[in-house]
Amino acid sequence: MPELPEVETTCRGIAPHIEGKQVAKVIIRQQQLRWPISPEISTVLPSLTINTVTRRAKYLLINTDEGTLIIHLGMSGSLRVINADIAAEKHEHIDIIFNDNNCLRYKDPRRFGCLLWTSAPINEHKLIHHLGPEPLSKAFNIDDFYPKTRSKKAPIKSLIMDGQAVVGVGNIYANEALFQAGIHPKRAANNISKKRMEVLILAIKTILAKAIEQGGTTLKDFVNSEGKPGYFQQTLNVYGRAKQSCTTCNTGIKQTVIGQRSTFYCPRCQH
Ligand SMILES: [Zn+2]
Repeated sequence: MPELPEVETTCRGIAPHIEGKQVAKVIIRQQQLRWPISPEISTVLPSLTINTVTRRAKYLLINTDEGTLIIHLGMSGSLRVINADIAAEKHEHIDIIFNDNNCLRYKDPRRFGCLLWTSAPINEHKLIHHLGPEPLSKAFNIDDFYPKTRSKKAPIKSLIMDGQAVVGVGNIYANEALFQAGIHPKRAANNISKKRMEVLILAIKTILAKAIEQGGTTLKDFVNSEGKPGYFQQTLNVYGRAKQSCTTCNTGIKQTVIGQRSTFYCPRCQH
């Protein structure tokens, strides 16, 4: 599943090729994604010019003077910029074709993604307005975050994944950040000291920033007709490593389930 670093990499990969371009035509081969595609994408978007491509949580925001195209990649979505004459393959559901005959092509085999349109300020949109701070921004800091955790008895792993305390910390990154911070994923959020919480915030920022940096090496794939857009391999210390040795202490990594998500931790290093 595309996580925040992959979405950020997609944003950086497509932005230089579509910013400033005018939309000539939109082709929709499959209407039904997670939600039906907004009709404005066929009726309003053609003729508009793309101002900027930005990201909020795992949403890509394609901004124009008349409104914003909101794209979520769901479980299996990806975007490429290619020549519009290249025939679409299976699962390539949408083409946004520009006046230079390049096209932003959306592929999504499992169809859990979405393409929605809003002409209202983006921060008022129902998918966006409730979102917590961006993990890599200054808004995600100990002084704002710690007080919010004092009434939370939920496992810390659930809290950092819920999108209200902080956005974009997916399952892999939650597992890895908790390992790096030495915090047991089931520990109640309100039972973690301010000092340890500060270590966790730093771990989240470090791991996401590193993943985005690794993604930078795949930017060319977004304009490569053969290449797959780069969802890249992470260096993982605990995720997917049940029964293997901890990279720090050699103890066997344990696996459990928290909030229906696979959870991996070292019973010796994390407490
Ligand atoms: Zn260990």
